[in-house]
Amino acid sequence: MVICPVCDAEIDVEEDELEEADTLSCDECGADLHVVSVDPLDLEPVEDDDDDDEEAPDFEDEDEEDEKWK
Ligand SMILES: [Zn+2]
Repeated sequence: MVICPVCDAEIDVEEDELEEADTLSCDECGADLHVVSVDPLDLEPVEDDDDDDEEAPDFEDEDEEDEKWK
């Protein structure tokens, strides 16, 4: 059994099944976890990259609408 480093919940995955660089998700808090190492086991939460959100096409659409109103 593996313990989620984010919420300390038990994740239904055997340590033996994990390999370095694997990713898994915590059922409890929904965090994506990256396997940094397996001996000793070290999991690290994968953080969403906020920069991607800034490049979302929604922002461009808003700009176009603003120009039409002017
Ligand atoms: Zn969790």
